[in-house]
Amino acid sequence: MPDQNKQTIEFKKNIVNFDNSYSSLPEIFYQRINPVPVKSPELIIFNKNLGKNLGMDIEQPEECYAQIFSGNIIPDGASPIALTYAGHQFGHFVGQLGDGRAVLLGEVNTPKQRHDIQLKGSGQTQFSRQGDGRSALGPVIREYILSEAMHALNIPTTRSLAAVSTGEEVVRETLLPGAILTRVAKSHVRIGTFEYFAARQQWDNVKILADYAIERHYPEIKTSPNPNPYLAFLKAVAEKQATLIAKWMGVGFIHGVMNTDNSSIAGETIDYGPCAFMDNYDPATVFSSIDHHGRYSFGNQPKIAQWNIACLAGCLMTLIDDDQTKLKKELGKIIEDFSVKVNNAIEKIMCQKIGLNSKQNNAKTLLNKLLEIMKNNESDYTLTFRYMSDVLGEKGDSNFKKQFISKNEIAEWLNEWQSFIEQQKNSKKEIYHSMRAINPIYIPRNHLVERAIKAGVNNADYSVMTDLCSILNQPYKEQHVDSGYKNPAESSERVYKTFCGT
Ligand code: AMP
Ligand code: MG
Repeated sequence: MPDQNKQTIEFKKNIVNFDNSYSSLPEIFYQRINPVPVKSPELIIFNKNLGKNLGMDIEQPEECYAQIFSGNIIPDGASPIALTYAGHQFGHFVGQLGDGRAVLLGEVNTPKQRHDIQLKGSGQTQFSRQGDGRSALGPVIREYILSEAMHALNIPTTRSLAAVSTGEEVVRETLLPGAILTRVAKSHVRIGTFEYFAARQQWDNVKILADYAIERHYPEIKTSPNPNPYLAFLKAVAEKQATLIAKWMGVGFIHGVMNTDNSSIAGETIDYGPCAFMDNYDPATVFSSIDHHGRYSFGNQPKIAQWNIACLAGCLMTLIDDDQTKLKKELGKIIEDFSVKVNNAIEKIMCQKIGLNSKQNNAKTLLNKLLEIMKNNESDYTLTFRYMSDVLGEKGDSNFKKQFISKNEIAEWLNEWQSFIEQQKNSKKEIYHSMRAINPIYIPRNHLVERAIKAGVNNADYSVMTDLCSILNQPYKEQHVDSGYKNPAESSERVYKTFCGT
């Protein structure tokens, strides 16, 4: 309930033009429900640039955004709904998930893109099961930092528009301060949304959803000649996922919960839970405390994405007529081809990271040799590539070599690499610049994120978070800041496990 002692101030309620489309789908696709008001919302952070891009009025007093992004005031034109979905969690099908702690406030259409505006942590819905419908402050800070950092790294992702503290506590293992994140997404249609209807054999609804997703995300399918639009749709989603996963692999991002309900049809990174960036290179790296068998380890991500695409294919199968056996075979081929597509995309990015073209003879062999040496030397995944570019610049090879314990092996590799560089058409200077544009120096390292969370949770001090966000906003540009922002954690601060925090 809103704080009775607080004077009620009238706020502008039309801060943005909503244009809702999902809420005109059949009612089974969602529950109409307003966010549950909170006691005393306070704005932690408001992403004004993003607000501006959405055509939002960004000049209102803070209190206005605190009220709207907490769900205490419903802005004009919003049509809050909680979305229905199911999903495979750790390989097991759960037939009923849905927005148990989120509502889609509405959609905003800009000339470039339609966006969902969602409040996460906004109270119980019919999908809450045993949950309280709320979010703790820590995971909200985490999602804000991580998603905005991913965006700055040019990786498709949901964005964070705002975070507010609620003035209420949530019960987890201990009492924790509560918060709400305002998330912006191309949409919240997930593979799990298709699975919800397919599991109930509601093929009409599968078709309605597929047509909706085509219209919203892949409209070109409607006008290009295809033997079957749903096959073309599957292929388009698979391509988007392959590109996305390759980009994750390029920066060492580990999603941590690649369940089908956390897999976006629009190809964005979505649902930042126990995700983390890898420090030293090891494909077996897992941070999530709930991923006991390493299903979602760094190196497994391409395979899991393929598994998820196969789940989507299973849902779409019935939209292809029984007599179209040739098309059904093509559907199988899309799943098979996924591994080639994703691996090619990864190789391309990884070769770019070392200044080479993946089509160049033996470039991949050279790359794999490096990865092997990095693994054996526990080299930092981010700094090794970044400092490799220095070898072609004025700074030379000393920082690069520091990433390796056994110096001989890497010295030999470096000689070989330099002879590859000599063979390139482009000048060394050009290669240096292209390497710097793909190899970040700043990533949201776990210990830095933890520091920001601690300051926020223990002292309501959000300056650590905002400082970190501003550095991560330009991840490729060396900034005049403490070297602690680029270096891995000292052993005392190292984070080995991350938690969902639900
Ligand atoms: P997630 O792990 O955030 O992807 O959520 C998985 C499912 O659990 C989704 O259906 C969520 O809506 C639901 N869920 C997670 N946390 C809560 C919560 N605190 N209250 C209600 N439902 C939740
Ligand atoms: Mg989820």
